[in-house]
This record gives sequence, C-alpha cells and structure tokens, in this order.
Amino acid sequence: MIPARLRAAAPGWTATADVVVVGSGIAGLTAALHARAAGRVLLVTKALLDAGSTRWAQGGIAAALAPDDSPAAHFADTMTAGAGLCDPAAVEVLVTEGPDRVRDLAALGAAFDRDPEGVLELTREGGHLHRRIVHAGGDATGAEVERALLAAVAAADDIEVIEHALVLDLLLDAQRRACGVTLHVLGEGTRDGVGAVRARAVVLATGGMGQVYASTTNPDVSTGDGMAVAARAGAALADVEFVQFHPTALWSGPGAVGRQPLVTEALRGEGGILLDAHGRRVMTDVHPLGDLAPRDVVAKQMSRVMAEQGVDHLLLDVRGLGADLLTRRFPTLLANCAEIGVDPLRDPVPVAPAAHYASGGVRTDLHGRTTVGGLYACGEVACTGVHGANRLASNSLLEGLVFATRIGAALEQELPSPSQPQTSDRPDGLVSAAARTELQRAMTEGAGVLRSADSLQHTAKTLDAIAARIDGAPAPEAWETTNLMTVASALVTAAAHREETRGSHWREDYPDRDDARWLVRIQQRLAPDGEFAVEEVAVG
Ligand SMILES: Cc1cc2nc3c(=O)[nH]c(=O)nc-3n(C[C@H](O)[C@H](O)[C@H](O)COP(=O)(O)OP(=O)(O)OC[C@H]3O[C@@H](n4cnc5c(N)ncnc54)[C@H](O)[C@@H]3O)c2cc1C
Repeated sequence: MIPARLRAAAPGWTATADVVVVGSGIAGLTAALHARAAGRVLLVTKALLDAGSTRWAQGGIAAALAPDDSPAAHFADTMTAGAGLCDPAAVEVLVTEGPDRVRDLAALGAAFDRDPEGVLELTREGGHLHRRIVHAGGDATGAEVERALLAAVAAADDIEVIEHALVLDLLLDAQRRACGVTLHVLGEGTRDGVGAVRARAVVLATGGMGQVYASTTNPDVSTGDGMAVAARAGAALADVEFVQFHPTALWSGPGAVGRQPLVTEALRGEGGILLDAHGRRVMTDVHPLGDLAPRDVVAKQMSRVMAEQGVDHLLLDVRGLGADLLTRRFPTLLANCAEIGVDPLRDPVPVAPAAHYASGGVRTDLHGRTTVGGLYACGEVACTGVHGANRLASNSLLEGLVFATRIGAALEQELPSPSQPQTSDRPDGLVSAAARTELQRAMTEGAGVLRSADSLQHTAKTLDAIAARIDGAPAPEAWETTNLMTVASALVTAAAHREETRGSHWREDYPDRDDARWLVRIQQRLAPDGEFAVEEVAVG
C-alpha cells in the first residue's frame, strides 16, 4: 500500500503567485518564460537551478530543419520508434512546431554549432532517417540550452525564483483542483522550512525518475516527485512501464548506487567491443549489427550475460581506437575513467546498463493539461503520448520545449480564479529514507531491463515490505523516498499488467509483441486505499 494522502507540517510561511512552475530544466524554464503572459510566475526548484537532466544532455535536439527533411519524415521516424503506442496528434504537434521552437531557442541566445556560413550543423542519430539533430559545443547541447534559458529567466524581472525548494504536495480546493503547492525550503529569512505557495495554476516540470533504479544516467534530483505528487492528487499516469535503458553507463565499483556517467555509443561506432569477464565478445551472433545493434538489444543481451555469469558489469574494450582518437574525441570518457582509476588505453572500461529515460508520466492533453483541474505538466514528467513505447533519440528536449510553450498559451486563455485549499483529513506516514537503496536494488533486479511475472511479483513484495516500514519522519529525504516508492509501485503494476514485449518493455515470459491484445495505453490512478487502479485506454 502506497501512502496516498500526505500532509506536510503546518506551513510556516505563505507566498502567492498566479502560476507556480516546479522545476528548472528545459521544460520548467520554457514554461516560466511563456506563463508570464498569464500573470505573476514563481519558479521553484529543489536544488540548484541547473541540477536536472537537461544540462547533461549530450546528443542534441531533433527538428526537421534541413532542406531535404520534413515534419512528415520526422513524424514517420517517431511513430516507428514508438512501436504502435504514439499518439499521432501529439507527434504531429511535436514535429510541426519543433523547428520554430528550436529557432526560438537560437534567438534567445543558445549557440548551436554552425558551419562557416552560419548554417546550423545537423547530425544523425539512431532511428532518424535524416540529419536533424541540432547540437552545441559538440556533445554539450544540454549545458548550452540550460545556460541560455537561465539567462533569459534571470533577465525577466517578472519571474521570481526560489532554489532549494522541494515541492512536497499539491494544495487542492474543494473541487479537487490544484491551487498551489506545499514545499520545504532550505532558505533563510522568512522563507525557510515548510511553506505554501498559493497559485491559480501549477505547472509540474520535475523531470524523470531514473533514481528509482540502482543505476541511472539521471542526476540525484530525478526521483519522480512530479509523478508522485500528481498521483496523490488523483491525476492519471500513463505508459509508466516504458523506461529506456542506456546499455553503457560507467560501472564505478561494487555497491555504486545513483548517477553513473554515460559512456557514449560513439565509442562502439568507432570500433569499441563489449566483452565478458573471460574476454569473450558479448554481441556476436545476437544481431546482424553486432556491437552496433539498437540500444535496447544491446542492453538486453548485456543483462542476460550478466545474470548468467552472476556479475554486475561487463567490459567495453576501446584499446583498439588508439591514444590519438581517444584523446581527441573522447576526453569526457578519459576524465570519468581517471576518477575511478581506469585507463582506457590500457584497461577495458567497466560498463553496465542504466535507467536513462521515462517515456511515460503524468497524462496530459495537447496543451499540457493533466486530468486534475489547474494542474499542467511538461517535459520528462509528462506523458503527452509522443514517445509511445520507446523514445526516438533527441525527441525529449524537443518535447519539453514544444509543450511547455503550449502551456504558456493555454494559461493565457484559461487561468482559473483563485480558490481556497482544503486539508486532507487522514494523512498517511512517509516511507523511511533508509529504505532508498533497498528499493533501488529491488527495482533493478526485478523490474529493470528484463522482466517476468515472477520477477515483478517478487519486486512488488519487496516494495510492500518497505512500505510497511513507514516512520513518518517528515524530512525531505523521506518525501523523496516516498515518491520513489509511489513511482516504483506504478511501474511494477503497469509492467506486470502488460503481458507482451514492446518497445522498451521486455517480458521474458511474453517475448513477442501482441498487437491483437495490447495496442492500448495503460493508464493508472492512485486510489485513497494506496493501490494503483489500472485502466486500458485506446491509443490516440
Ligand atoms: C546523460 C543524459 C543525456 C541525455 N541526452 C539527451 C539528448 O541528447 N537529447 C535529448 O533530447 N534528451 C536527452 N536526454 C534526456 C533529456 O535530457 C531529459 O529528458 C530532459 O532534459 C528533461 O527535461 P525536464 O525539464 O523535463 O527535466 P530536468 O531537466 O530533469 O529538470 C527537472 C527539474 O525539476 C526539479 N525538481 C524535481 N523534483 C522537484 C521537486 N519535488 N520540487 C522542486 N523541484 C523539483 C529538478 O531539480 C530540476 O530542476 C538525456 C538525459 C541524460 C540523463
């Protein structure tokens, strides 16, 4: 049973705004800039402003900008990746509005890489049949986008910002519409400790939930808070079973938990090969492309070999690339390896699959509206339906841009009147922060890359046992662990329900895609009794 009704300590302070935006990645910053048209904006974020996934994004942003490309071609590639579950209307919005949103970012000051004539350089990534990925600083796109958006927000004197402000829960009025948030601020002066922000609308832009697994490419802040907060308010979640795993994150030692640096696929593109502990090639005879097989195929094979051999990592041998290429093209790899005492010129690099991207989240319509009045969501926390069962590379930054902008336009038209928050009458306790690592390990073992009815049932039992150890201590870490428990439970419920293999959801006991039965979206709502109720809804 998941804590379904929580109540923060009585707020020690209250602030007001017309719109409160939660999160300061590409989605939150874009939403804040556009929501100004509707009224006073307060942006709150739980750590430093650039602590989210956005600044770590490497590849770039996909948009049909080349003369030989088109939104129709981008649409087709996105639908193919999504394996039958993309919402065509949402994809249409993404690909047709995408090019203008990228131009907006460039106009705002994002310095994308250009050729000597000043034309945007476009690269290609897996799954894209055209060159359509804009990038900045080579592989530092996210950092440049975050920098440009932060500069624009800093220059906007009608956006107030509070850092180190962990949003705990939504304030709901008598009609169960969102009318603000409760939050815990590590601040000073009058805004310190638990407070409340009363607002006419709330925009959740809290990013992903990679930290629900023991190993992830996501930063520490990606604890699925927005999904859990929305679920407790009664909002529908969708497609939660579809989590993309990156096959090669750096394995930094036994017991390593949390964010692991990404080891770029370009290394395999240049000739790097995956080996097991005995020096045998891992990808031989698995796929015609061998080490260059699609991400999900590589992650799955690696997980199988690791399970068979009872090991927690494999090896990526890049010694054949030579010192010159490694130093010139892959300085980030060399720096990350140096930190763990590995020299890729002499030793194979230890790697393991890691949770990378949540395709599902809080269900929204084409304007970011959730199923709860006054509550909007954008970016990785949202499920607009553009990714379906698998995200096409570099569509996620674009999704944040496009739908955050649309929320701004919707708010301008429909900002609700202020209303009075009600308090919940039967608050449950919080899950102990001490259970976090146990939860993450259980999720990786039973609900990670490879899943089956048995493994999911075992994980569900472990989650139940953890949930029974509610200790109620209202520390920020306990709120985060409770949120992890909530998204873990939603994920396991959906993954157990979907008895097929599709996109990034792999069931060992149902190895085939089954369009006759499963061409449906799994939507869930958290009931007051702490159980997720599953509903199958038509796609599109
Ligand atoms: C290593 C890596 C490489 C990637 N490369 C690419 C790429 O090349 N192209 C691409 O399209 N995508 C890429 N992605 C995915 C992409 O970066 C993310 O999907 C995207 O940045 C998400 O943006 P966001 O604004 O939704 O969330 P984030 O950027 O994660 O921001 C979330 C914000 O919410 C805040 N927050 C969270 N919880 C709370 C709370 N309770 N209270 C207050 N604030 C809160 C966080 O502190 C943060 O500010 C990559 C991801 C990773 C991890």
